[in-house]
Amino acid sequence: MNDTNIDTDPDTQSELTSDFSTFESLPLSPQTLQAVQALGFEKLTPIQAQILPHTLAGQDAIGQAQTGTGKTATFLLTLIEFLLKHPFAQDEQRYLGEPRALVLAPTRELAQQIYEDCLQMTQHTQLHSVCLMGGVEYQAQLQKLSQGFVDIIIATPGRLLDLIEKNEVFLDRIEVLVLDEADRMLDMGFIPAVKTLIGQMPANTDRQSLLFSATFNQDVMNLAYRWLYQPIFVEIEPEHKTSELVQQHFYILTEAKKLEALQQILQQQDVSKVIIFANRKDQVKRLYHKLRSHFKTVMLSGDVAQSQREKYLERFKNGDAEVMVATDVAGRGIHVDEVSHVINYTLPEQPDDYVHRIGRTGRAGQTGISISFVSEDDAFNLPALESHLQTKFDLEYLSF
Ligand code: AMP
Repeated sequence: MNDTNIDTDPDTQSELTSDFSTFESLPLSPQTLQAVQALGFEKLTPIQAQILPHTLAGQDAIGQAQTGTGKTATFLLTLIEFLLKHPFAQDEQRYLGEPRALVLAPTRELAQQIYEDCLQMTQHTQLHSVCLMGGVEYQAQLQKLSQGFVDIIIATPGRLLDLIEKNEVFLDRIEVLVLDEADRMLDMGFIPAVKTLIGQMPANTDRQSLLFSATFNQDVMNLAYRWLYQPIFVEIEPEHKTSELVQQHFYILTEAKKLEALQQILQQQDVSKVIIFANRKDQVKRLYHKLRSHFKTVMLSGDVAQSQREKYLERFKNGDAEVMVATDVAGRGIHVDEVSHVINYTLPEQPDDYVHRIGRTGRAGQTGISISFVSEDDAFNLPALESHLQTKFDLEYLSF
C-alpha cells in the first residue's frame, strides 16, 4: 500500500495548535462542547475546520487524512451531533441491534480506539455505543447488544457481517455511515464485506456518509463516489513523509549484538516510553521474554489474544508498562502519547512500515527519537528506504 503519510508530518502536527476557528463557532450541542473541552481540544484542526461546517449541515464528505490529523473527532462529532439533533420519535418502533450510526474500521485496534474516543465524546449524552470486532467473545458482544437500544456501532467488517448473518444486527436504519481508512480496507480485502454491509443500508441519498483514507487511488475514488452522495472532498496532505520532530538514528551493529545494544539503550535515563518494532512475530515474542525481567514490558502481535492485547495496550498507555514490543500489523494506527523512542530492532522491508513506525513518536508537537539497528541482514532494506524518503542516512557505529 502506498500509505506514506501517516501522522508524521510536522505541518499537520503544528497545525493542531495553530489558530483556527474554535469549537464554539460550530453548531455543537452543549453536551458535545463540554466533552470536547474536557478532552482539552481548544482549536479545530485543519481537517475539522474544513469538514465540520459541511458535515454538521448534513453533507457527505471524503477526507484524505491520516492518523494524527484529528479525523476521528471529525467524524464522531458529525455523527453524535446528528443523533442528538434528530432524536428518535417517541412513537416510533425501535428494535434491539438496530444502530443509527455505524463506523467501519479495518483493524481491531483502530475500532477499539475509535470506540474509546466515542465514549468520551458521548459521556454527557444518553447515546449508547457498542464496539463489535473479531477476536472478542461473541457472547460478550451479544450481551451488550441485548442490554438496550444501540445508537452507534463501531465495527470491523468481518465481525459485523457475522452478526448480521446471525440476525443480531440490522442496518436498515443507518442514518450516518463512516468508513475509516478506506485504503486499508481495500488492501485487506474487506471491500466485498463492506459492499454487502452497505447493500443493507438505506440508499446514499437517505443517509449521511463520510469516508476517510490516507491515500487515494482510482479504486478508492470509485468506491467513494459510489457510496457517497455529492460529497465535499477535503485533502490534508502532508508534504513530508517523516516528521522533523523525530531524530532518526541508524546504528550499524551485528545481529548478535542487537540485544545487548537494546538493553543499554533502554537503561538510559531519557528513555521513558519505548516501542520496539520487529519484523516477525517470533522475534517479538523472543524480545518480550528477554526484556520482561528487566523492564515493564508488553507485546502486541497477531499471536496475542485480542483481550490480552487490549490489556497490554492499556498498560502501555497509562504508563504501567514502559516498553512495548510490536509487529507492524499490530502496531499500526496505535496512538499513544509521549512515546520517547521508537526502536527498529529489525529494519522493515516495506519503507511505508518504517514511516508508520517512527510516526509513533514525535506526535502532537513533541520531539521523539527513532533508532534503527542496521545489521548485515537489515542492510538490504536500506537502499529502498533511502530512495523512498529521498535522503541518505548517516550511519553510526555502535561500540558495544
Ligand atoms: P486522530 O487523527 O483522530 O488519530 O487524532 C489524533 C490526536 O489528536 C488524538 O489524540 C486526538 O485526541 C487529538 N485531537 C483531535 N482533535 C484535536 C483538537 N482539535 N485539538 C487538539 N487535539 C486534538
